[in-house]
Amino acid sequence: MANVQESDFGKTKDGKAVKLFTLTNEHGLVAKVMTFGATLVEMRVPDKNGKMGDVVCGFDKLVDYEPKSDPYFGAVVGRVGNRIAKGEFTLDGTTYHLAVNNGPNTLHGGNVGFDKHVWDAKIVQSHDGPSVAFHRVSPDMEEGFPGNLDVTVTYTLTNDNAVRLHYKATTDKDTILNLTNHSYWNLSAFETPTILDEVLMLNADYYTPVDATLIPTGEILPVKGTVMDFTKPTPIGERIEQVPGGPPTGYDHNYVLNGPDGKMKLCARAYDPKSGRQMEVRTTQPGVQFYSGNFLDGTNTGKNGVKYVNHGAFCLETQHYPDSIHQPKFPSSELKPGQTFDETTTYKFSTR
Ligand code: BGC
Repeated sequence: MANVQESDFGKTKDGKAVKLFTLTNEHGLVAKVMTFGATLVEMRVPDKNGKMGDVVCGFDKLVDYEPKSDPYFGAVVGRVGNRIAKGEFTLDGTTYHLAVNNGPNTLHGGNVGFDKHVWDAKIVQSHDGPSVAFHRVSPDMEEGFPGNLDVTVTYTLTNDNAVRLHYKATTDKDTILNLTNHSYWNLSAFETPTILDEVLMLNADYYTPVDATLIPTGEILPVKGTVMDFTKPTPIGERIEQVPGGPPTGYDHNYVLNGPDGKMKLCARAYDPKSGRQMEVRTTQPGVQFYSGNFLDGTNTGKNGVKYVNHGAFCLETQHYPDSIHQPKFPSSELKPGQTFDETTTYKFSTR
């Protein structure tokens, strides 16, 4: 039977208790989510023979999630996921200065992003399946961002085999935000060490090219006829060596999703031919960062002793486009008092 179990996942270095929630749906799929970073720690789904496997990167112990070198495995990132050029932005005539933590830019909310905080959590009732709501208030000027931001991220493991993230946020001052989940997927459950043979389809005819520091140039270019084109299912490794930029080689780009912003639409379909596992991503968000695990280099040893090698997993970070605050042509990432940020993403599992 579908249920939620609560257990302890240890204490942070500064003594805060962290809870782990184990969500099991009617079909026996399991999602484990913890209060540190509102992080998806484990996702167990069957292969075509019914064998269960854990398809996300993560660690056995909390202590491994705490250092800055953790590659954001499974976490909710914010206040502004992805990059802000040169660590500053101007809003309503005031310039705000942020931590520069990625080359010359700000990445994933600064030095101590939402992924490094312990969130409150409560089990909630949902007709769709077991569900837990994570909540925190990011205080005014935390990491340099204006406004007290009240954020709730609800994870539901639906009885139709999807993990659903529902993000809601309000502010008491004009601010910017870009919330996403940073799970790294390997649909073979790491039985194949890399994702290069996994087949990806992205529902995106356009992408936003970037400069050498991964900041969008502002152009919105067609993928057609380029190595960026995933409109037809294509093995991730087929053209990965030809992707411009790097080192390291690979995809680390925002795709402009086809279909209306703010409405649920197809984002991506990923398929592992060996295990037969398929994951379909749907979202209300306007974009998705497809990141092919380019910076994974085998130094992180995760759950069950698995070494996460280069291209050992991929991310599909549904989001607003990077550096939107500096790009008037991109969908706005501003949030004002009285408005509610309300976005949903689902990752649905099946086999074929
Ligand atoms: C970024 C990568 C970065 C990774 C974090 C992704 O969202 O686009 O450039 O290395 O997050 O580890």
